[in-house]
Amino acid sequence: MRFLRPSVVAQEFLSSDENMRLLNSTPLVFMHLMVLAVPFFGISWPAVIVCLITYAVRVFALTGGYHRYFSHRSYKTSRVFQFIIGFVGASSAQRGPLWWASHHRHHHQHSDGPEDMHSPLQRTTFRSHIGWLFTRRSTFAYERRVRDWLKFPELVWLDRFHFVAPFSLVALMLGLGFVCQKLFPTSSVTPMQMAMWGFVASTVMVYHVTWCINSATHLFGNRRFETKDGSRNSLLLALLTFGEGWHNNHHRYPASARQGFYTREIDITYYILKMFNKVGLIWDIHAPPASIYREAAENGEKAKH
Ligand SMILES: [Zn+2]
Ligand SMILES: [Zn+2]
Repeated sequence: MRFLRPSVVAQEFLSSDENMRLLNSTPLVFMHLMVLAVPFFGISWPAVIVCLITYAVRVFALTGGYHRYFSHRSYKTSRVFQFIIGFVGASSAQRGPLWWASHHRHHHQHSDGPEDMHSPLQRTTFRSHIGWLFTRRSTFAYERRVRDWLKFPELVWLDRFHFVAPFSLVALMLGLGFVCQKLFPTSSVTPMQMAMWGFVASTVMVYHVTWCINSATHLFGNRRFETKDGSRNSLLLALLTFGEGWHNNHHRYPASARQGFYTREIDITYYILKMFNKVGLIWDIHAPPASIYREAAENGEKAKH
């Protein structure tokens, strides 16, 4: 059935697919123009708090779901929970989980090589951060890289109709704004204000922290492991991205659900995954083996994990 196919599938590309095009950049340009309009809708405590919540929930859904689960399968979970975390991830308006995982798996195979569409070492920083998403090639998913997920029709549906999730979040924000307006009549909150903060502002913030993993974590920070790419570890980026800033660790051992390999390496996503594990939502969390810690020690790491 056609509607069960992933978003857009391709196996081969033309070199012209790498050119930036107005049509491909329209949704992202629109979102950035919308964010300029946010101040015109005013500000209120309910809107700011909801903005921070939708930011945090979706950063986690991307790091713990799209990245550590759908791309790397670093833990196991139920079919219901994988759909929920996929749906919340899709509400970030970064396409569906299969599209995202297929591009990320491609990145790991070709990290900082000529094939890597968002390498800041091969291309400009602008291209690695956002420009690659303006190309026709970025709109394709590599179907053969996500064959393991194609047996779940609900995930293929979610990937194809990924826009349902962000539109649902907009509707939720409008409804919440309406309720808040009734509950706190003295505040300036309105349904549109809630949608602008809880969806538009928050989504653009989530965009840029996600894209920093493609751009900044291959440029700034320290290298513990001699990986074939330019990945780096950075505390600042780890705090902003809930643990993804330990990117050199991650490139050395991508199968680990834990990216801060040591206690002092703050990894909020991993702490949440551990809590989910305690209540039985996820299981079989994969950690780095002893050989990785030996290698780190040989490279001068003195800390205990
Ligand atoms: Zn990387
Ligand atoms: Zn990865």
